[in-house]
Amino acid sequence: MSTQTEIETGHPTLPDAHGKFGSYGGRFVPETLMPVLDDVIEAYEELRDDPGFRAEYEHLLKTYVGRPSPLTHAQRLSAHLGGAQIYLKREDLLHTGAHKINNALGQALLAKRMGKRRIIAETGAGQHGVATATACALLGLECVIYMGVVDMARQEPNVFRMRLLGAEVRGVESGTKTLKDAVNEAIRDWVSHPHDTYYIIGSALGPHPYPLMCRDFQSVIGKEARAQILEQAGRLPDQVIACVGGGSNAIGIFYGFLDDASVKLIGVEAGGYGIETGKHAARFARIENAEWRIEKSDDGKNSQFSILNSQFPQGKVGVFQGMKTVVLQNADGQIAETHSISAGLDYAGVGPEHVYLRDIGRAEYTFATDDEALAAFHALCKFEGIIPALESSHAVAEAIKRAPQLPHDHILLVNLSGRGDKDLNTVMKATKG
Ligand SMILES: *Cc1c(COP(=O)(O)O)cnc(C)c1O
Repeated sequence: MSTQTEIETGHPTLPDAHGKFGSYGGRFVPETLMPVLDDVIEAYEELRDDPGFRAEYEHLLKTYVGRPSPLTHAQRLSAHLGGAQIYLKREDLLHTGAHKINNALGQALLAKRMGKRRIIAETGAGQHGVATATACALLGLECVIYMGVVDMARQEPNVFRMRLLGAEVRGVESGTKTLKDAVNEAIRDWVSHPHDTYYIIGSALGPHPYPLMCRDFQSVIGKEARAQILEQAGRLPDQVIACVGGGSNAIGIFYGFLDDASVKLIGVEAGGYGIETGKHAARFARIENAEWRIEKSDDGKNSQFSILNSQFPQGKVGVFQGMKTVVLQNADGQIAETHSISAGLDYAGVGPEHVYLRDIGRAEYTFATDDEALAAFHALCKFEGIIPALESSHAVAEAIKRAPQLPHDHILLVNLSGRGDKDLNTVMKATKG
């Protein structure tokens, strides 16, 4: 069986039968997990184009999630910037406040069709945990969420939300007690309960078929947005801009425009305190960006340059959490510690399809720093009456940089992946500090 089918343009649809996007993706998991993943692949291949499954999913998107989400012309912000027209795809208006529900619900429905009664998931900031707990409550599935105890302390309201929704939240005490340790614990659970349990991964990440499934479920964003912009503006956007954590909201909106060669696709990563500080989550940013900061020492050597090279994380191809992709690593090949003001972008790995799109030149990737994202957050509040998620504010920041240099009839379509209610404390602290 193969997931490879031809789309209209004659290009093969990726991933290939091995779950590869070019040379990225694939399945790098313990032997014990292979048969479990085989079952998921088989079920998904069967249901992917099944009219009954699609109809049930689309019915729930419409009657429960609140789709289609609107497309908003940000007129005051655009006028203020004095250049291109900015349009916002409003995933912030969905049930649970972000795009994650599109994927969680799709996978929960798949699990139910597979006859699984128990769902497990990992969560860092709690957003994917809440989306999964929501889908499980709706579909009557048992739900166990793994979460590092450090994250649980940081994200107390989301822990409470998950419990309200009927989920069991299991604190993970191993390692750094954060997201990657929660992933390991969830995998351990899955290996020991392969028959009744299904693992929902929260972004376009992990071993095949997860990046494919997540992209398929999120591609509703791009499909809707394309039809909406044609209706409202009478033409395609010039650029589509989305923030990139694991990459699910970005791949979801990009997918609607992949075959439109005139539409530029721009992913925005978390620049944190700045690439030159080494404290960020910009896997595609090059350390060379920081070379201007390097000074020659008295003996004429580039001493700071070597410090940068040895201490600063760089995105390199590696195997991480079941897939081959670009991962932020230290010089010794260890997974780097990341930093972002937005928890959803604070991750060392990126979805394999984005690496492929970067390599073939179809999408470009840039970053916004914490400060730029905060400024964009405030701008959207004041000019449009919309409080965006800090993740989404990174995409808005990029639009704010680009718009003034572009003509008035140029269109920038920004994916507003979520709302900012969850971030108010962070913004309050950052504003006071
Ligand atoms: C989780 C999250 C993200 C980052 O995840 P992706 O998979 O990269 O989309 C972005 N925005 C919001 C609002 C989120 O909750």
